[in-house]
Amino acid sequence: MLTQAPKGTQDLLPQASHRWQRIEKSMRDVCALAGYREIRTPVFEHTELFQRGVGDTTDVVQKEMYTFNDKGNRSITLKPEGTAGAVRAFIEAHLYADTLPCKLYYVSCPCFRYEKPQSGRLRQFHQNGIEVFGAKDASVDAEIIALALKVLAANGIDGLRLNINSIGCPTCRKAYLEKLKDYLAPKLPGLCKTCQERFERNPMRILDCKEDADKLVDAPAMLDNLCEDCAGHFEKLKTYLQALGIEYAVDARIVRGLDYYTKTVFEIITDTPEGVPLTVCGGGRYDGLVEELGGPATPGIGWGMGIERMIMVQDMRGIGEEAPAPLDALVVTLGDEARAEGVKLVNALRERGVRADLDHAARSMKAQFKYANKLGVKKVVVIAGDELERGVVKLRDMEKSEETEVPMDEIASRF
Ligand code: ATP
Ligand code: MG
Repeated sequence: MLTQAPKGTQDLLPQASHRWQRIEKSMRDVCALAGYREIRTPVFEHTELFQRGVGDTTDVVQKEMYTFNDKGNRSITLKPEGTAGAVRAFIEAHLYADTLPCKLYYVSCPCFRYEKPQSGRLRQFHQNGIEVFGAKDASVDAEIIALALKVLAANGIDGLRLNINSIGCPTCRKAYLEKLKDYLAPKLPGLCKTCQERFERNPMRILDCKEDADKLVDAPAMLDNLCEDCAGHFEKLKTYLQALGIEYAVDARIVRGLDYYTKTVFEIITDTPEGVPLTVCGGGRYDGLVEELGGPATPGIGWGMGIERMIMVQDMRGIGEEAPAPLDALVVTLGDEARAEGVKLVNALRERGVRADLDHAARSMKAQFKYANKLGVKKVVVIAGDELERGVVKLRDMEKSEETEVPMDEIASRF
């Protein structure tokens, strides 16, 4: 127990951290170019925020949340996703009073869901995400989709499938839900228990059920029942995606997990070698959410992208970059006097931006070279013997196995 991480969690080990850093950097770069700014919200929030913000009838809230009472007896929940916290912060800090749209992104946001751990499904995972407040035109829907694809492409991940749908707004959904319930009612006894529970509170989610999907293929789709405004929005989105040269498929069956989604919803998915679809990024518009959580009516839209799933796709495709050597130079020394010079030299090299170190384990000369090899260091500086008296050091190119003598005071400039 003591030396085993809790089920569904993973360490990010130093051999892999460069891959995360690349993903995080690409997210920052892509977002900055489009005028987005970073937001970081707490890892935990009041439970009520997620009940309202993610939705009482969702799997996330009903089954997957890490909820506990703190010592002050407040119900606290570790965040299962990034949107609710961002909306809460947007309202609390009155960001709606600033110039809109408010374009936000977050990087490697830890998320917690009590799910059955399996491939691609962790209990603590991390999301990059985008949220935009105060932009109602479909051009922003297309923009955030384009940005998601850019972040993926910047990490060597292309050729994923983009599926889009519209799940309407409260206006058109009302009439549609009646239609849907009329369709579902006679089928209800044959559906799973969860679906039966959803029938009254959130019948649209029944269409999302993996167990019952086959029985519901001819269900009426929201997409065919959109009001003029929603239909127009969806047409515009398609036009903008075409203008950007982004391929997509319309999938009328995407419902999405969260309750307050309106209009556009989308997923970016790929197939695993086992043939199971893997969603790397999911998002949508939530025009009702800011108001639902107590702010002024403000349209919103966003997505979340699972970092562990990006890495999974990279691994599936064999494009995970190897870890670079952690150092440019190792300073190898013999004797105490040389070591003192070594300490100085390492410091001088670092000041010049050269990643340098010396052996801190007091190894023999031979072992220090072995150490350099293990680290994959390309250059070794040797400070030893009479060279020290002559004020020179040896610079050894480990790849070419060549050595040159360099005056001590010039060595730093050789990098
Ligand atoms: P799924 O259909 O796979 O359960 P979801 O609809 O629950 O996904 P979202 O809530 O949209 O997922 O979260 C956005 C992204 O976060 C997902 O596309 C995925 O990349 C990632 N993600 C969600 N749940 C997990 C998890 N348990 N472990 C790892 N990554 C996850
Ligand atoms: Mg899920």
